[in-house]
Amino acid sequence: MGYTFKGGYHPPDGKSLSESCTIEEMALPKVVAIHLSQHIGAPSKAIVSIGDEVKVGQPLSEPTGFVSIPVHSSVSGKVKAIAKIPDSNGVKSDAIIIESDGNDTFFDGVNIKKDYSSMTIEEMRKKISESGIAGMGGARFPTHVKLSPPKEKKISHVILNGVECEPYLTADDRLMQESPETIIEGLLLMMKITGAENGIIGIEKNKPKAISIIKKASEKYGNIAVCECEVKYPQGGEKQLIYAALRREVPSGGLPMDVGVVVSNVGTAHAVYEAIALNKPMYERIVTVTGEAINNPKNIKARIGTPISQLVEFAGGLKEDIFKVVNGGPMMGAAMSDLESPVHKGTSGILCISKASGKIMEEQPCISCGKCVSVCPMKLVPSTMATFVQYEKYDEVHKMGILDCISCGTCAYVCPSKRNLVQYFMRGKGEVMKKLRK
Ligand code: SF4
Ligand code: SF4
Repeated sequence: MGYTFKGGYHPPDGKSLSESCTIEEMALPKVVAIHLSQHIGAPSKAIVSIGDEVKVGQPLSEPTGFVSIPVHSSVSGKVKAIAKIPDSNGVKSDAIIIESDGNDTFFDGVNIKKDYSSMTIEEMRKKISESGIAGMGGARFPTHVKLSPPKEKKISHVILNGVECEPYLTADDRLMQESPETIIEGLLLMMKITGAENGIIGIEKNKPKAISIIKKASEKYGNIAVCECEVKYPQGGEKQLIYAALRREVPSGGLPMDVGVVVSNVGTAHAVYEAIALNKPMYERIVTVTGEAINNPKNIKARIGTPISQLVEFAGGLKEDIFKVVNGGPMMGAAMSDLESPVHKGTSGILCISKASGKIMEEQPCISCGKCVSVCPMKLVPSTMATFVQYEKYDEVHKMGILDCISCGTCAYVCPSKRNLVQYFMRGKGEVMKKLRK
């Protein structure tokens, strides 16, 4: 048994399709579309105009507040348009569209190794913010904000999340195997910035190669440990990982810093290292393109703004029995309506589900089996919460703790009646928040 939390479930993980695929770099896209908002917080504001020549790593926008970060060009070329285009959820927002000149010319000083030993903590935070780094595990929260806890919140541990419990996704697994040193360097930088004396890297036990490689890369540091976690979804949830690693419980409505912890994805640590050591902003990321309905599953290093259709093509294209394409994994991802939407900073995977493996089942009435209650990692009562939302009893559902729901989908996965539990909770949370804002 590994370290774990209470509740959860282990669905078939489908990782064998891509876990042995080394990271491959795609040819440069001819056109990229870079949305101004790819993070949680205020959208950034464009600082380039149509017709401007830009280079790789050049800022295209500026933040509009503390919880805001810029975006950068992922190709060299010319700004062709600034227009509203749909993201992977079909929601339209402003994006800068750049036609590549094919030269891949870097902006001044970008991607050049430098000595950062004399940088102050404030300079490091500023560099992380200027580099447009947002959480790469999917949460998309600006990293410089996470690394700026208030003075009264003493941080004892930075925990890197290498759990990757979402079925099918293997991008983090590959990154840990292929770039362990940069992840460790990023962790050390995060520890320095937050004042944490200890670092932990949480990895599920189904990634034995990553565990062994990360252990070897970190063994010379006495204050960094690898936490081998039980293979169970959602082990990679922040609160679940903190409990597994340290037995500390984040209180209802609280944050990891309330128990002295900052949690960050392994990909984010890698990006922090690149920002500080190489002056490299976030203009590319690793995306797993996988599923039973793609010809050659791959882990792809893709430029931000590349149309997802090109990643699908690079992975050999869709098979005939395609059922749907999901942005993310099967538990927390969302079905895509348009494959031309671009890769974002939070795009960790593209899952191509076949007709044979993806069935839509009609929702049936609750049979009070209690399975959803036994698996909920937040100790909620999903069956009753869903019924309250159905009857619009939002005060009751608020009291039951609906705001603690992390939308992990474990309850819906195990429900024999196939109730649309997550959709009920999204609606319920929205209504409760509306009431609270009044
Ligand atoms: S989606 Fe919410 S209610 Fe359902 S298991 Fe996850 S945390 Fe619990
Ligand atoms: S798992 Fe589904 S059927 Fe069973 S109690 Fe929960 S909501 Fe009802």
